[in-house]
Amino acid sequence: GAVIGIVGGGQLGRMLAMAAARLGLGTIVVDPDKHCPASETAGDIIVAAYDDPVAILKLARRCQVITYEFENVPVAPLRRASEETPVFPPVEALEVSQDRVVEKAFLNGIGLATAPWRAIDTVQELDHALQELEGGCILKSRRFGYDGKGQVSLSRADGYAEAWDALGGVPSILEKRVPFVRELSVVAARGADGTVVGFDPAENTHEDGILRRSVVPGGISPATAANAQAVAKTILEKLNYVGVVGVELFETAEGALLVNEIAPRIHNSGHWTEAACFVSQFEQHIRAVAGLPLGAPTRHSDCVMENLIGEEASKAYELLSESDVVLHLYGKRQARPGRKMGHFTRLLTRDA
Ligand code: ATP
Ligand code: MG
Ligand code: MG
Repeated sequence: GAVIGIVGGGQLGRMLAMAAARLGLGTIVVDPDKHCPASETAGDIIVAAYDDPVAILKLARRCQVITYEFENVPVAPLRRASEETPVFPPVEALEVSQDRVVEKAFLNGIGLATAPWRAIDTVQELDHALQELEGGCILKSRRFGYDGKGQVSLSRADGYAEAWDALGGVPSILEKRVPFVRELSVVAARGADGTVVGFDPAENTHEDGILRRSVVPGGISPATAANAQAVAKTILEKLNYVGVVGVELFETAEGALLVNEIAPRIHNSGHWTEAACFVSQFEQHIRAVAGLPLGAPTRHSDCVMENLIGEEASKAYELLSESDVVLHLYGKRQARPGRKMGHFTRLLTRDA
């Protein structure tokens, strides 16, 4: 069977490798840590930095398709590798999602709404943008942020110079704080033949910038769910995408959807699919990048997915006595505060 190259061996790489194995496909993971979570599930591991061009090229020559588990992998080695071996999702999608200014400009350019925003390169621009946007705002670094890192909440009344310094004076984006009624996300896939299939959107709660839980369907109305699917489809088609995407959205009091960000990969808020759907997001992604038919996104149960963060994982096995819970641990040896150690999905009876 085909071999899939995966750049990044964290929990997402681990779960992709498991899904590939179930379909009889091989995997080779590139990760700097030979004991990374994916090392236990992948067929082979190339121990190297993500930006090591030699390692990425070596990967390209040993597999039929390359994918990646997170959006902060350097573009240049993947672009070079794509001359030898297809890279899915396409490198263009990776570039768009790596830079919040490029991402927001792309989204607005294809007719999708976001929070009002300004690109910020100097403290003077920050001062000016705070006057223009008025009210509460969030300053985010353009690149490399995740789990709410590299963000400062501020308004005109706060000392903007402090916020600028707190972020280290890096190129940033200022976004107006959206008074959303809920956060939701949609995980969808596009196949090599252009077929688009979306899982039901999840209602998400964050704590300290980290996803706490995803509830499906939660308080999301069928109309809003359909809107969210349409947003994801537009993004997938405009990017000529192949693979699974996670689209994070804010729902306003008026029922409008604003796009927060795009993750060009499987998404934490889609982990519930392994428990409540016949085909998980992990298998869906593998199917898409391997050129196999996509699976139906049918959901057989309502559910709640909860992350196990830091020391919470020490109680994980207590969940095994509950008959409606599906547990998934990432095999990480050390629990650090804020580190995602695993998750569990509780299946709920579905309303008739
Ligand atoms: P992820 O781990 O999802 O990649 P991230 O570090 O890229 O996170 P964001 O998704 O931009 O960060 O923001 C983290 C959270 O902060 C959001 O899920 C949301 O709860 C809140 N947030 C971000 N931007 C806004 C905004 N403009 N208005 C209101 N809340 C926001
Ligand atoms: Mg992000
Ligand atoms: Mg986010």
